[in-house]
This record gives sequence, C-alpha cells and structure tokens, in this order.
Amino acid sequence: MAAKIIDGAALAERVKADVKERVGAHQRAGRPVYLVAVLVGGSPAGEIFAQRQADACRAVGIEYQLLKLDGDSTHEQVMQAISRLNHDPAVTGIMVHLPLPAHLNATELQYHIDPVKDVEGVNPANIGYVVYGQTLIAPFTAQACIELINATGVELRGAEVTVVGASQIVGRPIGLLLTQQMATVTTCHIATRDLKLHTTRADILVAAAGKAGLITADHVKEGAVVIDVGINRITLADGTKKTVGDVDFESVSRKAAAITPVPGGVGPMTVAMLLQNTLRSADLLHAKA
Ligand code: NAD
Repeated sequence: MAAKIIDGAALAERVKADVKERVGAHQRAGRPVYLVAVLVGGSPAGEIFAQRQADACRAVGIEYQLLKLDGDSTHEQVMQAISRLNHDPAVTGIMVHLPLPAHLNATELQYHIDPVKDVEGVNPANIGYVVYGQTLIAPFTAQACIELINATGVELRGAEVTVVGASQIVGRPIGLLLTQQMATVTTCHIATRDLKLHTTRADILVAAAGKAGLITADHVKEGAVVIDVGINRITLADGTKKTVGDVDFESVSRKAAAITPVPGGVGPMTVAMLLQNTLRSADLLHAKA
C-alpha cells in the first residue's frame, strides 16, 4: 500500500498563520518582534538564503535585518557585534549564518548569543535545557521533525525510533527530544556497523545523514513512519540537477505508512519552526521585562 505523504508545506502554513497572529499581538502592544541575522563575508548563495529568510519573516510580521560584516572581520569584531545585539533591547532574536569564513569559530560565536535571543537553539545552554527536559528554545530542524511525526498521530511513547545521523544541530537533538517524549531512540552514524539492523526495527525512522539514496526499502520496516531530513543535489543521467533526500522515495513510499517528501516535507517546516522560535524569544524577553 502506498504511504501517506506527510505534507510539510501545508503544516508549515498552519504554523505560520498562528505565528503571524501572535506576532501581531506583540506589535499591537508596541513590542515588535525583531530578528537580526549576522552574515560574515556574503556569498551569492548566502545572500539568496538570507533574502528568503527575510521574506519568510516579513510575511508573518517579524522585522528582519541582515547585518553584513566584512569577510575579513576578526573574531573579536564579530563577538562585539553579537554583544551589541545582545544588549539592544529592540532586538528580540539573533542568528549567525553558516558557513563562516575559516578563521572564525562558529561554536564560540554561538556560545556568545544570549540564550533567550538564540532563535536557532544552538547555544550550549539551550541544548542543556533540552537535556534536562526543560526546553527553552530547541534547534529548529529537530523541532520540525517532531511536529511532522506528531502530525501522523503515531504514538511516540514506547516507539522504536532510529535516527540516522548524529550531528550537533540535527541528529542528536532529534534523539534528545524524542527521548523526552518517551520513545526508545537509537542513533546511527558513520561508524555504525550494521545500519539495516537498526533501521529495520524502527517504527519511526529519521534520515539525517546527507547521503542521497542511503535509505532504501530494504532498510525500512513495513508500516514505518519515515522522516527524510536530507537535502542533496544530484545530477541525473540527462545532466539536469535535482534535489533529493536521503531516502529512496520511490521504493520506500511503497512500504512505509507515512513519509515526508523532499522537497515539501522537513524543509518548509524548518522555516516555520525558525519563525516560531523567533516568536518564542520575544515571548520570553517580554515575560522577563
Ligand atoms: P552533518 O554532515 O553535520 O552530519 C551527518 C551525520 O550523518 C553525521 O553524524 C554522520 O556520522 C552521519 N552519516 C553520514 N554518512 C552516513 C552513513 N553512510 N551512514 C550512517 N550515518 C552517516 O550533516 P547535518 O548538518 O546533520 O545535515 C544532515 C542532512 O540534513 C544534510 O543533507 C543537510 O542538508 C540536511 N538538513 C536539512 C534541513 C532541512 O531543513 N530539511 C536542515 C538541516 C540539515
């Protein structure tokens, strides 16, 4: 039987409508929601991505500024720029675009963002709160996966979940949030000896490795929920380029109960979750004030 397609785009629209309404309430109370994104040494790809982000913010009433710094800015200069944003009461959210020029240390810069204004949920304090089960702001890609899983109605308590990928901002936080929901989580990575052993017993399989076609029907249990986080650009036989996930959609969608498409699954929900986090930062700041 063909899997149900989990429509991330439609779900994202619902989240954005809710965010828009609540951002409006902040505006009416004279407290605009204002996100500043730091871009060090812009590349054309980085600028396009930032422009899309600006459009997404403005569509829900979030004020957005792209703070462009020279590519040869020193670590100290970027730290100072973040300090100024931390202390500016008008700024409710801060994020730093990656990748950064090689001479800058992304982790140290992310450590420096005020945890309450850290809309990406990448400050170690925010990861720590997730570990303690007291989430303040969680990494937004991980949250997107949780929302998509919840949208299928599958029971998380006691479910066997396998996450393929163990990166700091995607794979590992997904595992933490799912453990919090009482799922039994197995995390696989590049050193996992027998991937299929773990993936074939998963009621819920999350693929976040960044390898096109890594997960085939042989990796999937009949009736599983499959969430495909991967974004990979591949070249087809005729030379055209295509964006695909980590999951072989064609074969897996005939075996799974529900599956996210790429594009149109995790991607749009990730944007919606960033907007939701930006609103959350403003909520937390105004609650403190
Ligand atoms: P990463 O390269 O930092 O981490 C990849 C992880 O996958 C590592 O833990 C690695 O050990 C593991 N891995 C790699 N090859 C593997 C294999 N053959 N078997 C098992 N594990 C393997 O990547 P990331 O930043 O976590 O991103 C992962 C993917 O998700 C990428 O394709 C990225 O573009 C995509 N992504 C999508 C969104 C979205 O909005 N949809 C957001 C963030 C990342």
